[in-house]
Amino acid sequence: MTKRAQNNQLTGKYEPVIGLEVHCQLKTRTKLFCSCPQSFAQTPNSNVCPVCSGAPGVLPVLNKKAVDYAIKMALAVGAKINPESVFARKQYFYPDLPKGYQITQFDKPYCEGGGVRLAGGKYIPLTRIHLEEDAGKSVHSAEGTFVDLNRAGIPLIEIVSEPSISSPQEASEYLKKLRAIVRYLGICDGNLEEGSFRCDANVSLKPKGSKKLGARCEIKNLNSFRNIEKSLVYEIYRQADLLDAGQRVAVQTRLWDPALSRTKAMRDKEESEDYRYFPEPDLPRLFLEKERVSSIDASLPELPDAKGERFLKDYLINYEESQILTSDRDLASFFETLVAKRSESLPIPLIARWVCGEYLREMRADEAWTLKNLRVPGDKFLLLLECVAQQKISQRAGKKVFKLMVAEGGDPLDLIRREKLEQVSDKSIIKKACEEILHKSKAQVDEYLSGKEKVFAYFVGQVLRQTGGNFNPQSLNEVLKELLQEKKKQ
Ligand code: ADP
Ligand code: MG
Ligand code: ZN
Repeated sequence: MTKRAQNNQLTGKYEPVIGLEVHCQLKTRTKLFCSCPQSFAQTPNSNVCPVCSGAPGVLPVLNKKAVDYAIKMALAVGAKINPESVFARKQYFYPDLPKGYQITQFDKPYCEGGGVRLAGGKYIPLTRIHLEEDAGKSVHSAEGTFVDLNRAGIPLIEIVSEPSISSPQEASEYLKKLRAIVRYLGICDGNLEEGSFRCDANVSLKPKGSKKLGARCEIKNLNSFRNIEKSLVYEIYRQADLLDAGQRVAVQTRLWDPALSRTKAMRDKEESEDYRYFPEPDLPRLFLEKERVSSIDASLPELPDAKGERFLKDYLINYEESQILTSDRDLASFFETLVAKRSESLPIPLIARWVCGEYLREMRADEAWTLKNLRVPGDKFLLLLECVAQQKISQRAGKKVFKLMVAEGGDPLDLIRREKLEQVSDKSIIKKACEEILHKSKAQVDEYLSGKEKVFAYFVGQVLRQTGGNFNPQSLNEVLKELLQEKKKQ
């Protein structure tokens, strides 16, 4: 990696321009043009028929469900749906493409426009979304390269953004938003590692303030959010170094190498002429009637943006928490179940803070812990939060109990008792401890009485240290103030 990339600074001369192409596998039962089932991790070439393996003389039949899913996505991002669209053949030779062409959409996709709003308010417009079939997979091993056609013909939507993303962070945020939407809609798993949600990133630099786009590279082989950000950072600095040295950026397709943390040239970028697109003669035009579109529209669930706004308004939580909680549909519903089951006295913002903080932190540290398989069930978690809200235990003790609940799976009330974490609010007990400390700290008391009010923190610290720190902080403050006030009068 270049020196500048390591220091992570751009000269300020250039502005990065990023456009993403995202492929989402649609979770239909069968493939796009045949009735082969689609399922992950099957024996290679077990979900294959003459249509998806490219036998001569067969005809494709379009999967209705896949089209419905594609329409859902178009509606969710506010795109314009074309009442009439055309499938096209994209020709290229590759061992995992048995027909020698891919059926996709070219100049007349089923939808255009729309966009996605990022948390800071920036809108990322989409160019288009189109429907296409996936290719098979080449599997490389020591014995050679094998071809698995289970993936060939699985329906995809390709979501193409305008080149208006300005940083690797924005790219990653945009992708997370898209992923949240496809998951909310239930049309795609959104799994980068397994490849059901894939991204190619196009990136170029232009002189600051310039309108004209520079020469771009397309990066492939990105299978995690981390790699996407890292590869974009790498590529931005690589291009900046070239431009600084007075060289040109070659328009290329580049591969991300996660082991070496760098991109490397794969091939010169192909132009659309190279693919010899023409309308697919074996499929009729696709007509999408208004009634079909509006009935799908009526069936859409509440989407992340709308849910986020509702959470902000109804639950009085902060913006960041509303974004986190609605980033995943299951997480949002876990939170809303807690809200519904809580007792009146438990403030909702406290639940939001703990879910976004402690709960998610522990959950993410444990792979087996998912929202469908909770390590700490909601009712136990609520019990703990009630104890915190009623100041039965301090926040700090609450965090300790939560960790124990994660490790041992016990009941919060038992754990609080066992660990003697119950907060002491009985003023007579607190008073006794305070009197002892004040008695032992004559010099500091004199300082305090002579006007150095800062010494107060010293008394608090001493009392907590001597007693193990279980006093209700508010009561402790009150008692100490009263005692010192009395001394002032003496
Ligand atoms: P293809 O990559 O298949 O040739 P397009 O020309 O439609 O297809 O571009 C694909 C993606 O590249 C789009 O997301 C677009 O925003 C992005 N893109 C196009 N030109 C540039 C550029 N100069 N810099 C960065 N991204 C770009
Ligand atoms: Mg491309
Ligand atoms: Zn098939």
